[in-house]
Amino acid sequence: MKNWPLALVFIAQAAINFVVTAAPAWAANYTGPLFDAHLHYNQEAWNGQTGPHPVADVLARMQQGGVRAIVSNSRPNDGTKLLAESALTRQAGVSVVPFIRLYRNRADYDSWFRDETIFDMVQAEFAKGTAAGPFRGIGEFHLYDSANANGAVAKKLMAFAEEKNLAVLAHVDDTAIDLLMANTPSQGQKARLIWAHTGIGGASVARVDALLARYPLLMGELSYRPGLTCSDGPGTERLCPEWRALLLKYPTRFLIGSDTWVNQRWLYYGDLMQGYRAWLGDLPADVARNIGWNNGARLFGLPLAP
Ligand SMILES: [Zn+2]
Repeated sequence: MKNWPLALVFIAQAAINFVVTAAPAWAANYTGPLFDAHLHYNQEAWNGQTGPHPVADVLARMQQGGVRAIVSNSRPNDGTKLLAESALTRQAGVSVVPFIRLYRNRADYDSWFRDETIFDMVQAEFAKGTAAGPFRGIGEFHLYDSANANGAVAKKLMAFAEEKNLAVLAHVDDTAIDLLMANTPSQGQKARLIWAHTGIGGASVARVDALLARYPLLMGELSYRPGLTCSDGPGTERLCPEWRALLLKYPTRFLIGSDTWVNQRWLYYGDLMQGYRAWLGDLPADVARNIGWNNGARLFGLPLAP
């Protein structure tokens, strides 16, 4: 996420908080482990370990939320390394799956797809890895104009990711999914692409369905997804019917995520996870376990939940 006016974020969050607080007693929440597949630990969160959310703070939030594994990426990559390498992380029992962020600073958001120095940086970071192990993916990256999926560096990165078996976390529209997939050696058949928000612009369920059918390893991450949950009134938030049907049709293809793109998301981290637990409780137990944990665990070789 980026570019949302903060006031809007607060209003949206207040609505979520209300719904979570007022969750009906008959909805049995999912109580298993959670895999947060879209987490940022950006500089302003920790700021040389004196920011508002040092490692101990974010780990405590994960533990309180029942989050046992995360895909971590950060602007710059030091935040992810800090989390991945900390002894506190191991003590907390949180597995960190580190991704290489493309952005050194805010300006990189709008030019990475044609900036050769970004490709150099990604290759150098991949070669170095973290002290806790290799990077497992690239992203999150953004494309606000899907045509930029054909930028020279975007093409190279998609090929590089497939060659190195790296996952890619992409905040893009449905048109860009096809373009990015076409830029891989396998034409998208072997591309481990995680679609951030499963289309924050609200691609139709039919379109999401068609893309999942076309690309066997495409995964949908569900933070901020418009139309995912419906409410018949205060306290009755559930999965919207067509989304519930899609999750049941593709139970191994969806992930949940916090998207802590601004510090304010850290403040509400526990509420976000409670929100997921509420609607996961709408699903059969095995499907909830898949979306809550097992799909992410399978992607990155972590133990499955029983
Ligand atoms: Zn994000």
